[in-house]
Amino acid sequence: MVDCFKLDAVLEVDAGARRARVQPGVVQAALNAAAAPYGLEFGPDTSTVDQATLGGMVGNNSSGSRSVVYGETKDKVLRLAGVLATGETIALGPCAGGDLSSGIGGAASAPLAAALARIRGRARGVIADRSPQTGRCTSGYNLRELLAPQPNLARLLTGSEGTLALTTELEVLLDPLPGRRLGAALAFDTLRGALEANVAILDTGPSAIEFLDLEPLRRAAGLAGYPRMAALLEGREAALLTVEYQGSEEEARAGLGRLAGLAGSLGAARIVWLEDAEALSEAAALRRAVLPLLMGAPGADRPTAFVEDTAVAPDRLGDFVADLERLVALHDASTIAAVIVEPVMLTAGVHALPQEYLEGLRALCDETGVILIFDEIVTGFGRLGSWFAPSVFFDKSAHVVTGFAGRCECCGHNLRQRRVEALVELKLEDGSTQLPMEFRRDVRGKCH
Ligand SMILES: Cc1cc2nc3c(=O)[nH]c(=O)nc-3n(C[C@H](O)[C@H](O)[C@H](O)COP(=O)(O)OP(=O)(O)OC[C@H]3O[C@@H](n4cnc5c(N)ncnc54)[C@H](O)[C@@H]3O)c2cc1C
Repeated sequence: MVDCFKLDAVLEVDAGARRARVQPGVVQAALNAAAAPYGLEFGPDTSTVDQATLGGMVGNNSSGSRSVVYGETKDKVLRLAGVLATGETIALGPCAGGDLSSGIGGAASAPLAAALARIRGRARGVIADRSPQTGRCTSGYNLRELLAPQPNLARLLTGSEGTLALTTELEVLLDPLPGRRLGAALAFDTLRGALEANVAILDTGPSAIEFLDLEPLRRAAGLAGYPRMAALLEGREAALLTVEYQGSEEEARAGLGRLAGLAGSLGAARIVWLEDAEALSEAAALRRAVLPLLMGAPGADRPTAFVEDTAVAPDRLGDFVADLERLVALHDASTIAAVIVEPVMLTAGVHALPQEYLEGLRALCDETGVILIFDEIVTGFGRLGSWFAPSVFFDKSAHVVTGFAGRCECCGHNLRQRRVEALVELKLEDGSTQLPMEFRRDVRGKCH
């Protein structure tokens, strides 16, 4: 285990080239502070900006609510220096054309370049056909980079969670700080209403949209610290969208004007315009604080997260939430707790969990009344001696969720082709059966 927190030097900010060289333990907020005097910032805005390190953001391929304009961390990584498991150092960066050896430096560069070229040759079709066509994609290794006309091998490591090399130094691209940010918070009576409005708002060119489910949030203590949002937080509406526009003063105002033009047709119960910096930063702080606020709720009001980081095309979010609410309604929402079993698919291959682990999990779930959800029904592939985990566990009312998140595109695809929906019926406690709950897939959106 290596802790990089002391490797926290911003080595260089090259304002002209909009680049920074940093050690991996630099916290994003510290990089932003170093870049701000030059009118620059690191664009991908994780909500953990005050804690997330650049090494960790590269590890996770982090991004945030402004991913509609800034993309993900991988889009900002230019070069990376690291250490391999063998102890050898490595330097990764842009290739000259498709020549992979030109993008790797270090003693192991020749065999690594040859191995990558073999992967590219062998898996080109699979990578091209089966990669989710999402704006945001953080699943598996970023093998898509290999198919780029000029791959950048530093980006190949982005999202690899430290499994390929330990990052020791990074060069990243910075973005210009916008002159102005303006926004609005819109409250809706239903989650679906907010999510449908989200689709229309995306057409107005926002720099960020964030969705908040207000009902659980209202149970949290500590909301008094958000006086500007109080009217919305104390109301009865179910959901909140915060929307932001950035650019020059005119651009940001024009964006807000487009939103105002639409406002009458969005179905919002209330709108608060966030036109001063304090109001916007309060809305952003609320977004960042949601998880800590929820986790601070007393006793039974403290929620248990069970579906996180899903990627759903914005125009399917309404259906997605309706499906999710159906699942919650099927079980008593106040007691719902679930374990989701999910292998890594596609770019990294299938990582089947050991059978003993799944059996232990099954037993624990039975004992405690926790729902076991198989997110990807090929979980059992290989080691369970069966194509589908549910065929092993099905008599015990496991839930099968297919195509649940962006990560499942490939699997959902297999599923549709094999028409296994009919084979894997869900046995409910009353003895009746139901087809697996199928969540929406087709993930092409950028919505956090
Ligand atoms: C409340 C909360 C909110 C979040 N919000 C967001 C969000 O808005 N957007 C988003 O994208 N993510 C979000 N995340 C997850 C987010 O990715 C992390 O918070 C952050 O980016 C990771 O940074 P870290 O320094 O904590 O990394 P860690 O958690 O320490 O590491 C992340 C991964 O990178 C690897 N890693 C770390 N350092 C190195 C290194 N030097 N070399 C190689 N590998 C390394 C680790 O092994 C690990 O796999 C959130 C998490 C929480 C808890």
